[in-house]
Amino acid sequence: MAYRYMDELPVEALVRYKAKLDIVGLHQCPYKLKADEWTNNPKQWPKIEYPDVYHYLINTPGVFSQQPKANHRSLEAYNFFVSGWVQTVLHIKVGTNTVLKADVKPSWRVTEDCHHSWVAVDNSACVLTAHCDCMAGLGESCSHIGALLYKMEAAVRLGYTDSACTDVPCQWNQCFTKKVTPSPVARINFYTEKSQQQSPSGEAPRNGNSSEIINPHFRTWKFV
Ligand SMILES: [Zn+2]
Repeated sequence: MAYRYMDELPVEALVRYKAKLDIVGLHQCPYKLKADEWTNNPKQWPKIEYPDVYHYLINTPGVFSQQPKANHRSLEAYNFFVSGWVQTVLHIKVGTNTVLKADVKPSWRVTEDCHHSWVAVDNSACVLTAHCDCMAGLGESCSHIGALLYKMEAAVRLGYTDSACTDVPCQWNQCFTKKVTPSPVARINFYTEKSQQQSPSGEAPRNGNSSEIINPHFRTWKFV
């Protein structure tokens, strides 16, 4: 779907989309660029920091509306990133600008296809514009775009954009939740194999009274 995205846009949406491409200096829709034109190398990403992400999602006027986006909900997209919804981020250079794209899993239906988000950033780490093929994407600040920006911000904060070695940042970039299979809570095992082996009964470890179960690899779960 993404490849023919621009061809299938309604006239008004197409005008908005072309305005975004003009800002970046793109002559072609990023969804149509060939796979071998994109690069996986966080070391070459612009050094986006949290104020840049906040400024874009909240203060920056939309290309078409000219009004600040004020999309406070998209700030919650950090959870999308830490949950592993953002797949490998790839980039291309367009003059002095950088376009970065990633597939992002939808928040509420884990079996649904990914959304396709891209952002354009100039060489001073200012986010110029962004897009996503979800329903909210034409507004330039959906949660998938926010999640992509948070992954880029994390790479800078964790030092992957300055790393001397290329392999480690690339491996980090490819680390995400590949597939989540829905299951009833009763069937979900919250414990690692190691923690169950440490329990004398082989059952999930419990803490004193039976109302509290300790998962040493995550957090304390309490049942009321
Ligand atoms: Zn989206």
